[in-house]
Amino acid sequence: MIRGSGLRIGRILGIPIYLHSTWVFIFAAITYIIASEFRQEHPLWTDTQHWAVGLLTSLLFFASVLFHELSHSVVAQHYKIRVVSITLFLFGGLARIEREPSKAIQEFNIAIAGPLASGLLAGGFLALTLLFPFSQTVGALATWLCRTNAALAVFNLLPGFPLDGGRIFRAIVWGVTKNFEKATRVAGASGKLIAYAMILLGAWGAFHGFVQDGLWTAFIGWFILNAAQESVAQVAIRETLAGLSAADVMSKEVPTAPGHITLEEYSTEVLRTGRRCHLVVSDDRLVGMMNIHTLNSVPRGEWAHNSVQAAMIQRDKILWTSPDEPLLKLLERLLSADVNQMPVVSGSGDGAPQIVGIVTRDSILRVMQTRSELGPLAATK
Ligand SMILES: [Zn+2]
Repeated sequence: MIRGSGLRIGRILGIPIYLHSTWVFIFAAITYIIASEFRQEHPLWTDTQHWAVGLLTSLLFFASVLFHELSHSVVAQHYKIRVVSITLFLFGGLARIEREPSKAIQEFNIAIAGPLASGLLAGGFLALTLLFPFSQTVGALATWLCRTNAALAVFNLLPGFPLDGGRIFRAIVWGVTKNFEKATRVAGASGKLIAYAMILLGAWGAFHGFVQDGLWTAFIGWFILNAAQESVAQVAIRETLAGLSAADVMSKEVPTAPGHITLEEYSTEVLRTGRRCHLVVSDDRLVGMMNIHTLNSVPRGEWAHNSVQAAMIQRDKILWTSPDEPLLKLLERLLSADVNQMPVVSGSGDGAPQIVGIVTRDSILRVMQTRSELGPLAATK
């Protein structure tokens, strides 16, 4: 799950724009490639011209990518879907939206906006090439940008996830079959097919004299393959956890341990009951949480001399959840905080919070496994 990471460069339409850490490298590489092309095609220009026009072209290329992502975003915002961030990275850009569209037609329109925008830019630069001769700087710049934006539009229309064309394809299958999960699998499979085809084609090209283009094609294919697998896996997780909240999987039995016992005694209790996590109480008050992980962080030789209260996770450091927190969000929090369990606290009417259960990673994984084994029976859509 790619987050809005990297260097924040500004805000457009209320959307924060980020540069991914790979961007500086890619920007330098693309500028170099363009400048080298200009040097070959326009030997009469000065070296400063090659580099200056190369740099400007490169900047306008990334502006084009940003324009493409903004087009997706404007349509998403039209459907009241919040755009969390836009990140410019290795192969262009990524607009991260808060949720999947709720209707096939929305996904279709959001997806097609990008290639349309790139096509529009290609047309605009084509018009410039008609006004300025190729031998001049503006003409050369416009030619490169026309070609590249046209290529971006066409490439993005390939019907495989995670490309725009894959989303368009999914929207069509979704609209026809009314089955989002099935549509995602079909688009994901087609994304893999396209990826394998690109890798094979690239490898074939590399062995037949087109080394640079071949490797580049294979590399992009490999990238699409990974992204296709990841998108399908993510959707699968989202599907299996849809509609469930903490209350559905929590264990209502919350074992407690007194704070004054030694770690040695605590380990005996863990071995005897098989329970891996306890809330620690002292004088009937909750003071912290203890689990195997925390126990193991204390050297075994010191277990006899340390109390649970001295080693436990302090009460204010415990991460809590509420019974109605969606399971997908809860799982993300467990993973990002690298904890295995969270107590479930219900804020009862009189304001005094009450511990009603405990959710563990295991219990969530069990539900995912069971639901995926049940397959279509468990589909909630
Ligand atoms: Zn796009």
